[in-house]
Amino acid sequence: MSDCIFCKIVAGEIPCRKLYEDEDVLVFHDIHPVAPVHFMLIPKAHVASLAECDQSHRDVLGKILLLAPKLAWEQGLTDGFRTVINTGRGGGQEVFHLHVHVIGGGGPRPL
Ligand code: AMP
Ligand code: ZN
Repeated sequence: MSDCIFCKIVAGEIPCRKLYEDEDVLVFHDIHPVAPVHFMLIPKAHVASLAECDQSHRDVLGKILLLAPKLAWEQGLTDGFRTVINTGRGGGQEVFHLHVHVIGGGGPRPL
C-alpha cells in the first residue's frame, strides 16, 4: 500500500520510535501519546483493519496479542494497561493499517 503511512514506517521511509521488531510485527511509540506509555503493535503486512482480517491473519494477530503484555511490562506497566483496536470510521479508526494500541501509566481509567 504505497499511500499507507504505517507501511511507510515498516519500509523505513518514515521514522518511528521503534520498540520491537521481528519478521512479522513492528512496535513503535504513538506520535501523539494519550498517556505516559502509548505504543502500537502492527503487522508488517498491510491489512486495513480487524474487519479485513481472515484466517491468514490468525498467527500474526495471536503474536501481537501475546507480545502486548510482554512489551507493556517492559515499558513499566506492571500494574496493567489498556488495549484498543479502533475498527472502521465508525470505530474511530484514522490510520487504515491494523494496529493495536497499548496505553497505560496514567492511572485507572474506566471504560
Ligand atoms: P487510530 O484512531 O486507532 O487509527 O489511531 C491512529 C494513531 O496513529 C493515532 O493515535 C496517531 O497518533 C498515530 N499515528 C499517526 N501517525 C503516526 C506516526 N507517523 N507515528 C506514530 N504514530 C502515528
Ligand atoms: Zn499499510
